[in-house]
Amino acid sequence: MIAEKMKNMVANSSAIRAMFEEGNRLAQIYGAENVFDFSLGNPNVPAPKAVKKAILELIEEEDPVALHGYTNSNCGYAEVREAIAASLNERFGTTFAGKNIVMTVGAAGGLNVILKSLINPGDEVIAFAPYFGEYRSYTDNYDGVLVEVPPNTVDFQPKLDEFEQKITPKTKAVIVNTPNNPTGVVYSESTIKKLAAVMEAKQKEYGTDIFLISDEPYRELVYDKAEVPYLTKYYANTVVGYSYSKSLSLPGERIGYLVIPDEVSDSEEVLAAANVATRILGFVNAPTLQQKIVAKCLNEKTDISYYDRNREALYQGLKECGFSCIKPQGAFYLFVKSPVEDEKEFCAAAKKYNLLIVPGSSFACPGYVRLAYCVSYETIVNSLPKFRELAKEYF
Ligand code: PLP
Repeated sequence: MIAEKMKNMVANSSAIRAMFEEGNRLAQIYGAENVFDFSLGNPNVPAPKAVKKAILELIEEEDPVALHGYTNSNCGYAEVREAIAASLNERFGTTFAGKNIVMTVGAAGGLNVILKSLINPGDEVIAFAPYFGEYRSYTDNYDGVLVEVPPNTVDFQPKLDEFEQKITPKTKAVIVNTPNNPTGVVYSESTIKKLAAVMEAKQKEYGTDIFLISDEPYRELVYDKAEVPYLTKYYANTVVGYSYSKSLSLPGERIGYLVIPDEVSDSEEVLAAANVATRILGFVNAPTLQQKIVAKCLNEKTDISYYDRNREALYQGLKECGFSCIKPQGAFYLFVKSPVEDEKEFCAAAKKYNLLIVPGSSFACPGYVRLAYCVSYETIVNSLPKFRELAKEYF
């Protein structure tokens, strides 16, 4: 019999799998080109050519025993970590060294490593709705408690007054994700400054450490020159979790890193804990070939113009149909207001037109739906007549 804790998780993940299977079923009946699957955040822009070149060079030129072996430190290759630190310092004016970087199995691996390193049973982790639903499972993995700050549906910047009320002596960490999945919102510098001030004051009041975990797989996916503040500069107890899943279109390769700056309280200990956590969670080390690939591709970028064209077409198209949503500044998601209170009902109605979209309740924000526009431009253009038909049911 499976563990009690897993029963709910299995039930929830079957809902996601059901949507995936439904997409396949519809594609078999109507043809894949007539099914408009906006459910998954799987980038459809190929990885930059430099990635393939790096792979071939590494395979040809490196000693295969070293290339495919365990790394000396569970945190990854020293030269890769140094190269990443230097690149961050150049871009953001920070002063990281290689030792501040821990190579991870994507952002998901990084979040698990840092939560494993920090959380005692019963510790609270705060997240701002809407948030990536896995934060709840990751926190629960370490018997932490996820505390939710309700959404600000005006502009989806975090509600800082309510945030302040939610911080308790048990608060160990706060997770922010900007550019945000599912809204595409970038938290402004003024939001970040206020958030940092609230956290500083609460640390003082309670005499505790409250860590800010910046989950940033979408950092480079921004439009209209939006600025994404680098959070270690605003709050000392910040740990950054980065991933190449979206920025280099490598989600299946499972590669990212954590930044644990010297300014973090007991940073040596936190780094040592992250090293051990990487090992005992069973990752052992982030994939070695991928570490070397990303180190060779630090200046590479995904083709953001591709997502930008999709963003414009879908945003304008849906607005013309009568739907309302804020224009995303980053990532590749649109968060659309459901025309009926129960957004699951709306998702079911959309399915009649072969439109697959995700209910906002999966992100702790019912009444909204998420559309991932990392699909082909043709999918967007061809879906718009279907959205028009769907809209006629409501407006
Ligand atoms: N965090 C957020 C906000 C995400 O949207 C995702 C993936 O979609 C992840 C973390 C996990 O990313 P990775 O593939 O790097 O594990």
